[in-house]
Amino acid sequence: MGRAGGFEGEVGQGGAAAADGDRGLFAQRNSGDHIRVHLIQRVPADWITAGGLTLQDTDGIRAHLLERYRDWSPRLRRLISDNDGPSVDRPIFALPVPHTWEHNPTVTLLGDAAHLMPPLGVGVNLAMLDACELALALALARHDTVGEAVRTYEKTMLPRSTETARLLDGAAAELLSTELPDFATTDHR
Ligand SMILES: Cc1cc2nc3c(=O)[nH]c(=O)nc-3n(C[C@H](O)[C@H](O)[C@H](O)COP(=O)(O)OP(=O)(O)OC[C@H]3O[C@@H](n4cnc5c(N)ncnc54)[C@H](O)[C@@H]3O)c2cc1C
Repeated sequence: MGRAGGFEGEVGQGGAAAADGDRGLFAQRNSGDHIRVHLIQRVPADWITAGGLTLQDTDGIRAHLLERYRDWSPRLRRLISDNDGPSVDRPIFALPVPHTWEHNPTVTLLGDAAHLMPPLGVGVNLAMLDACELALALALARHDTVGEAVRTYEKTMLPRSTETARLLDGAAAELLSTELPDFATTDHR
């Protein structure tokens, strides 16, 4: 995370992304005049300890990343070098598709716990939709029991999340793709 001042050319008023097939960078304007920078790498999950580092070693992590991105434009490398730290490590996991379970009248799942997918921009929306639908099913008292409300929620949520999870299955690699998205034909509904 770094102060936004001085990065207008790189990040503009919204976000910026770059990738070379093996490494990616995604910078996004956040509140409080800050820019959050995500670096996306195709590396083993233990890349920090394997590199003799700890997550608390902000300078060491920064030097390691600058070395990995050494061939990149100095303007983009500034987004790695000129930040406040500390770093957060977020390995990318996904649940199997479909992810279902035997109905239990008093327990259910929502959000990532129900359908963790590659981070391609849908997780928060799905989590909020799940929460609204479950809350409505429980609150509207259209059901005689909690179990029926849970079943109604799951009947909508499970097919919806399975359909999206199928679309995104294995799509984490797209975060590193050098192909530009085809904005002219992509359906953004
Ligand atoms: C790098 C990255 C970028 C992403 N970008 C986007 C994006 O641009 N758009 C988008 O829609 N989605 C994005 N996502 C996905 C999105 O963040 C998730 O889908 C969303 O946060 C899921 O919400 P949730 O409430 O289900 O889970 P979470 O947000 O993970 O919330 C779960 C909460 O439960 C807490 N918790 C865990 N265990 C316990 C426990 N035992 N007791 C008490 N509390 C506990 C956790 O600390 C956490 O606060 C991104 C994800 C990642 C990793």
